[in-house]
Amino acid sequence: LVLLEHAKKSFGDTPVLKDLSLSVHKGEVVAVIGPSGGGKSTLLRCCTLLETLDAGRLAFGDLLVCEDGPDGRAVYGSKAVQKQAKERFGLVFQNFNLFPHYTVLKNITDAPLHVQKRPKDEVMTHARALLDKMGLAGKENMVPCELSGGQQQRVAIARALALNPDVLFFDEPTSALDPELTQDVLKVIRDLAAEHMTMVIVTHEMNFARDVADHIVFMDGGIIVEEGPAADLINNPKHERTRAFLSKYE
Ligand code: ATP
Ligand code: MG
Repeated sequence: LVLLEHAKKSFGDTPVLKDLSLSVHKGEVVAVIGPSGGGKSTLLRCCTLLETLDAGRLAFGDLLVCEDGPDGRAVYGSKAVQKQAKERFGLVFQNFNLFPHYTVLKNITDAPLHVQKRPKDEVMTHARALLDKMGLAGKENMVPCELSGGQQQRVAIARALALNPDVLFFDEPTSALDPELTQDVLKVIRDLAAEHMTMVIVTHEMNFARDVADHIVFMDGGIIVEEGPAADLINNPKHERTRAFLSKYE
């Protein structure tokens, strides 16, 4: 469903992704873990077209977003292709990024109504069902600052789901939250995993990664040092760097 091959990305002279490949199958939950500065956010930003790759190939299903040109530099598809690609994924950041002056309901329904131009009845019904599912029934007319961080993050997840994406990307969705609120957000993500929502989650929550992810990728220094089935990677890391990283969480 998501295929990234031989991705390279530098900022100035600093390589941040060094020939990195990642594939995510439909229904799979992939957790990306690793030390700060390892390139996890950059990986997510390249997959979600917030950054462009210097070289490499990116595809969502049958939709090719970019591939290497004859000179070895990534060539991106047309604006139309990029727009189609953006309709296939949702993105949830650490800091919620809700529109502060919009109500909860408007935050969720704005893009389905005005970007996807779906019928109002259907969008409203869908939004209310998502709010229910996120444990936010009755909050539709509040504005973000009236909600806790955990509630805001669940609105952000509802907003991403309202666009019916094929895959959701999360960048440390709970790292701005108190432990208590973290659990509410993780529960929502667990429920989505149980429904086989395809997800890529950058996280520092190792227990969550082990329990919920099918596959874990350990990134450090712009490469995938080690990857594998979640329990194997956490319980039996093969690389010294993975062991050293995980030992900090015991
Ligand atoms: P963290 O766990 O702290 O979020 P990370 O694994 O997400 O770290 P990235 O944010 O991807 O790491 O950063 C990887 C490297 O790229 C860092 O050295 C960072 O300073 C650099 N970097 C990221 N974005 C930019 C940018 N826009 N311009 C210049 N350098 C950048
Ligand atoms: Mg990051």
